[in-house]
Amino acid sequence: MDTDTDTDSDSDDVPCTTPNTTYTIYVPTFLDDVLLSQMLITDLNAELLKKNWLTPELVREIESCFPTKEEISNTSEGDNIRDLDAFKSKAAKLLPHGRIFVSFKQLDQVSKMFLDAWAVNKVHVTKRICCSYSATSNKKSRLHPDRAKRRKVETSAKTLYQCPFQIRYSFMNYSKKTPTKKPNIFYRVKITGVNYEHTCQLSTVFHRESKQKNGTLQPDLNGLSDIIGLLREKPNLKPDLLRPLLLKYIPYYKTIDAKFIRNFRQRALHWIIHQSGRDFLMEDARHLSSNAVVAADEYVVREDPESTRALTSLLRKVMQEDGTTWEAIRYLNELKIPNPGLD
Ligand SMILES: [Zn+2]
Repeated sequence: MDTDTDTDSDSDDVPCTTPNTTYTIYVPTFLDDVLLSQMLITDLNAELLKKNWLTPELVREIESCFPTKEEISNTSEGDNIRDLDAFKSKAAKLLPHGRIFVSFKQLDQVSKMFLDAWAVNKVHVTKRICCSYSATSNKKSRLHPDRAKRRKVETSAKTLYQCPFQIRYSFMNYSKKTPTKKPNIFYRVKITGVNYEHTCQLSTVFHRESKQKNGTLQPDLNGLSDIIGLLREKPNLKPDLLRPLLLKYIPYYKTIDAKFIRNFRQRALHWIIHQSGRDFLMEDARHLSSNAVVAADEYVVREDPESTRALTSLLRKVMQEDGTTWEAIRYLNELKIPNPGLD
């Protein structure tokens, strides 16, 4: 959306949309106390950077710009896609050109909360907030000089989408002179440029991939390790009992549906059979909570004494729980392995 293309000149709501007049500047209550304190300016700076700048009223305003149920469509693959036009109009409402925020940190937190709800992973570069699929140039220096050694995924996704979404801002009454210069957090900021266009999908899958690439979204290792322990004792734990646990320990943006739970259990039991001798690692946690289809070799149970022992122990527990061999047989069928004398 281009905010300058309002050709409807006789529209009578123009005066109301004049920047700076309709938008409240939300000043957090901690600010006065902090500014009046006798702390060193460097300590003050550190303190302010850690603060939550979102006042309750501001949070309410951000929440009013979240996607509604009607603006999110659920695909058969379990993805959730948000409506782009709705995104643009709500971004324009919350983050219009000319709006002032009490600090860059406040603008950063507002953007994060808003963009998270729209499944966009925020990136904050110099005086600019953009989408993680934007073609930001400041990361180039980190690329390996040898093209062959560059991490491919990240560069290709950015190059492919070059998402133009961005909110530019400037510091107000900024002083560069040494005696009066203060850390950036002490300046109000004003939005000076906007582009609400968004070329990558506003989808849960995109958001998750982007977060995973940036390492900001991790399954809870200890939590999943506990679930493994639970499944070891109750391999047949009912999905309605497993689901809340998975919801608790797996990043919010994953869709935890029946298929996901089935895959998770399959992988977890495979892990128990083959890997129980070692520690449960983050890469295991990521693998178990992956949305990818379970690969054929993840069904295969190797025929070594250790694995056979683990499998027998699992099957015994399934049978104890259900008092029948039926579930154990069903499980073996799912594992596509020869039935060791259960029928
Ligand atoms: Zn984007």
